[in-house]
Amino acid sequence: MYCEDDLVPISALQHILFCERQYALIHIEQVWEENRFTAEGKVLHERVDVEHHESRRLFRQEYGIAVRSLERGLIGKCDLVELHLAPNGGVADAVPVEFKRGRNKEEDVDRVQLCAQAFCLEETFKVPVAVGQLYYLQEHRRTTVDIDGPLRAKTMELVARIRQLQSAGTTPPAVYEKRTCDRCSLLELCMPESAGSGGKRVDRFVQSQIRATREECGQ
Ligand code: SF4
Repeated sequence: MYCEDDLVPISALQHILFCERQYALIHIEQVWEENRFTAEGKVLHERVDVEHHESRRLFRQEYGIAVRSLERGLIGKCDLVELHLAPNGGVADAVPVEFKRGRNKEEDVDRVQLCAQAFCLEETFKVPVAVGQLYYLQEHRRTTVDIDGPLRAKTMELVARIRQLQSAGTTPPAVYEKRTCDRCSLLELCMPESAGSGGKRVDRFVQSQIRATREECGQ
């Protein structure tokens, strides 16, 4: 069992799967830069959070609920959870639904996030969560994702890797990859194509740039 202070944010899973350096910059160095993709994602989630709650007999929709698993060491928020109730009022089934901008992706970035939410719901409601759903804005439909063994294993491997990087406190070096870097909100700060940006901490780089600018201005 993990304690409250030692929980991994579910959002970190998509960052580490996208790029280990991006994960470290955001979650270890606390660097964040908004770009079009992150801004659109934020607006979408804000819209989801103000949606109404639908409730029928034996069915309930809960938007924007905070979840955690002390057993797996995870904490986060579900865009939507659909709860199917048993006649005695208990939860018989829980389905997490995650809203995403864009289209279904080849990488598992969205699926691991859904799986981590499923872990939390299983612990909260004491029911197995067999599926989750992803709703992509551009596709206007839900895709059902099996929360199967391989996805569960992959998700827990990522959590273990996050804990490794957290305890080491190091930021992996920058390696330019067109597929990820060109979509990365931290491209300008990370500078993967600049020789020597390597494993340097971005906050040190930013500080050195501020010092250089001040010197130029005679401050
Ligand atoms: S620019 Fe590339 S190497 Fe740097 S954090 Fe983003 S994806 Fe990773």
